[in-house]
Amino acid sequence: MYHNQFSSFMPPQRVLMGAGPANIYPSVALAMAKPTIGHLDPSFIEMMDQVKSHLQYAFQTENKMTGAISAPGSAGMEACFVNLVEPGDTVIVCINGVFGGRMKEIAERCGAKVVTYEEQLGKPIDPEKLEQTLALHPDASVVAFVHAETSTGVLSDAQALCEISRKNNCLTIVDAVTSVAGSPVRVDEWGIDAVYTGSQKCLSCVPGLSPVTFSPKAVAKIMDRKQQIRSWFLDQSLLMGYWGDGSNNDKRSYHHTAPVNSLYALHEALVLLRNETLETSWLRHNQNHEVLRDGLETLGLRYFVDPECRLPQLNSVYIPDGVDDVEVRAKLLTDYGLEIGGGLGALAGKIWRIGLMGAAANPSNVALCLKALADVLPTKH
Ligand SMILES: *Cc1c(COP(=O)(O)O)cnc(C)c1O
Repeated sequence: MYHNQFSSFMPPQRVLMGAGPANIYPSVALAMAKPTIGHLDPSFIEMMDQVKSHLQYAFQTENKMTGAISAPGSAGMEACFVNLVEPGDTVIVCINGVFGGRMKEIAERCGAKVVTYEEQLGKPIDPEKLEQTLALHPDASVVAFVHAETSTGVLSDAQALCEISRKNNCLTIVDAVTSVAGSPVRVDEWGIDAVYTGSQKCLSCVPGLSPVTFSPKAVAKIMDRKQQIRSWFLDQSLLMGYWGDGSNNDKRSYHHTAPVNSLYALHEALVLLRNETLETSWLRHNQNHEVLRDGLETLGLRYFVDPECRLPQLNSVYIPDGVDDVEVRAKLLTDYGLEIGGGLGALAGKIWRIGLMGAAANPSNVALCLKALADVLPTKH
């Protein structure tokens, strides 16, 4: 006789208001459960073409080289660097948090001569300081920075930074993992050359995919490389054989087995975004942020970041003196099913990061979070 000795996993219900992943909409979860088909099935290829055009919308670009890396946001970051950086290239990495630090590490692994401009945590990248750094390094060919630094909750002025980089003949690599769908990202208008995002943040999809897009200038650089790209898996010139290059003679061939069901989920998340529109999504993130901010300030919590450069989708506040970080977050999780983020890197134990990403940016989540914090925090601090 056959006995079912092992049980299926049933995750607990959580309200995800941390730094990602965000909650997903029910239709995105249902999309995952649709039947798996072959990754070269004509129906699947048709769906990928739709994903591509929806991603062009999400990024506000007409770039032909647009698709999703079959791996999380960090792989999108790595893809941009391994494709655009050759050993010996001078790369300027602007660092104002953990993810900028990760860019530096990847650029070094690509064999670049890395120049860093480090900004104080909690401050945006300063266009003037980038300009000064570029003036000192006229041989630089790439500038990289994080648009929305999730480790601190800071938004930098990507448009100004890209304009300065372009004037200095540098290509730009921009991390838009937390910004896309939560704050305006306009790839073509701002002239960004390589940009990546993550499926699990404001796009409200399952984790594990990293949409990327490359400008025609970035594609020219990739095609013109002196040395072969060191990574086989992330080589965009090979990946485009699968995602399609938009040409008439666009035959798709096997590169790797696409995460078929995850791409159904991304398709659905992007359909929801298009129906909502980017403008409404940005507005929704902002409106919920304003209500949350007022409530947090009423509770006596202070923001880590100045209002001019605060991310609506990631609210970082100081942990009040005498309050136990881990204890509070554990209580929120067990008593309220609510996840908020702790500090990352140098800010661990100093700040909380309260996310309002994608589906999580809604009034009932804001109310739950404020109620739970009011209950859990000591009344006087
Ligand atoms: C989350 C995040 C990443 C990394 O994404 P993963 O999916 O965790 O690999 C990179 N950059 C920023 C700004 C992020 O917020």
